[in-house]
Amino acid sequence: LVLSTRKQNLRHYFEEGAKFHGHLSPGLVIGIFMVDLAEEILGSPGLVDAVVETQLCLPDVVQIMTPCSYGNGWLRVKDWGKFALTLYDKERRDGVRVYLDMEKVKNYPRIYQWYMRENGGVETGQVVSEIMGAERAILSWERVRVKVTPKEKGPVSICPVCGETHPASNGELCPRCSGRDDYYRVINGEITPG
Ligand SMILES: [Zn+2]
Repeated sequence: LVLSTRKQNLRHYFEEGAKFHGHLSPGLVIGIFMVDLAEEILGSPGLVDAVVETQLCLPDVVQIMTPCSYGNGWLRVKDWGKFALTLYDKERRDGVRVYLDMEKVKNYPRIYQWYMRENGGVETGQVVSEIMGAERAILSWERVRVKVTPKEKGPVSICPVCGETHPASNGELCPRCSGRDDYYRVINGEITPG
C-alpha cells in the first residue's frame, strides 16, 4: 500500500487513534482529516479551542490531535449528532468549521451508506478504505466567529432530596431529583462510616 504524503503525515494519528478509541472507526478517520484541514486553514494561531457537534468519535480525534480535552474545558461537545467541528482562536474567536458534506459524500457509496445507516450492510473496513481514498474530498469548511458563553463558576446548592451539591442555577433540586434528567436506579447503597 502506497500512502499519499498527507496520509503518511497523519499516520501517527491513525495509530494513536486506534489505540485511544479502541479501533480505527470510519468516524475517527474522517475526523483526523477534518482536524488536519482545520489546522491547515487556521495556520498558526495562538491558543486554539474546539467545539465538536457530535459525541461520537470527534471528541477523541480532537483530544488526540490538539491540546484541547473535554476535561480541561478547551473542548466543548455538542450533542447535535452532526459530523462537524470547529477550531478557533481562543482570543479572537475566529475559526474554521469543517463538516462532512453530504453532497460530496454522494460520490462515495460506501461512506454514504455507512453514514446514513442504510441497510446496515457495509463492512467497516470497506468504509475506512473509501475514506482513506477520499481524504478531504468529502469535506467542506467555512470561516466562523464563535459566540462564547463564558463558563461561570456560580454558586452551589445542596439538593434537599439527595444532599449532593450542584450549581444553584439548576434551582433548588438537582437535575436528577427534579426529574429533569436521569441515568441510573440505585440498587444498593451504603453510607460511608465515619
Ligand atoms: Zn438531588
